[in-house]
Amino acid sequence: MKDKFSTTILQSEQLSKYLLETSAYPREHEQLKELRKATVDKYQYWSLMNVPADEGQLLSMLLKLMNAKKTIEVGVFTGYSLLSTALALPDDGKIIAIDPDREAYETGLPFIQKANMTHKIQYIQSDATTVMNKFLADGEEGTFDFAFVDADKENYINYHEQLLKLIKVGGIVAYDNTLWAGTVALSEDEEMLEYLKGCRGDIMTLNTFLAADSRIELAHLSIGDGLTLCKKLA
Ligand code: SAH
Ligand code: CA
Repeated sequence: MKDKFSTTILQSEQLSKYLLETSAYPREHEQLKELRKATVDKYQYWSLMNVPADEGQLLSMLLKLMNAKKTIEVGVFTGYSLLSTALALPDDGKIIAIDPDREAYETGLPFIQKANMTHKIQYIQSDATTVMNKFLADGEEGTFDFAFVDADKENYINYHEQLLKLIKVGGIVAYDNTLWAGTVALSEDEEMLEYLKGCRGDIMTLNTFLAADSRIELAHLSIGDGLTLCKKLA
C-alpha cells in the first residue's frame, strides 16, 4: 500500500517503479538520464520537480504529433521537460524557456549542450508574467503551438488568460501537477505534507475553472503528478 506521504498518484510506489523501469528508462535519452542524475545530486528531494521520464515521453510524442515548432515553457528548473521538448522539435524549432532561477537552469545546461539542443532554446531569466505581457505587446499573439506550464501554481489561472492569447487556434496549453500528489481529492483536515497544503486550493480552483472553460477542449490526465491538456478551440 501507498504511505500517506507518497507523492506518486499511482496505486503504489511499486507500480510507479514498474512503469518507469519497464517502459520509460530503457528509452530515455542519455543526456536526459545525465541531467536527472545531476539534479538528484544537487537538489536531493526537490529533484522530484523534474517531470518523470514517462511524462517526458508523452510530451515528446504529443509535440511530434502536432508538428509543433514554436513553444513556451513556464518553469524550467534544471530543464528535464525543456530538454525533452527540445529533442522532440525539428531542427529549426524554438522554445522560449522562462524561469527566474538561473542556477537551476545552469545545472542542466551542460547536458542540453551535450545533446546539441542549445540552438532551439531561448532562456529568459524572469518571472513569466512580465515576459508574456511583453510578447503580447510585441505582437506575438497566436504564434505559439504549445505551452508547458510548470511554475508557481497560484498563477496558473492568470497564465491561462495570457497563454490562450499567445497560442494558435488548435494549439495546446499543458498544465503540470494538476493532481497535486492526490491531495486534490482529500478533505482539508487530512494529514498531508506542508508544501502540498499550500497550493492545493489553487490547483482545485484551476481544475474546476478549466472544466467549465468553453474556449478549450480538455483532457485531464493521470500521468506523473497530473497533466491537464487544453486545446484552444477558437
Ligand atoms: N519543468 C521542470 C520543473 C519546474 S519546477 C521540469 O520538469 O524539469 C518549477 C520551477 O518554476 C522552479 O524552477 C521555479 O523557479 C519556477 N518558477 C517559480 N515561479 C515562477 C515564475 N513566476 N515564473 C517562471 N518560473 C517560475
Ligand atoms: Ca512539475
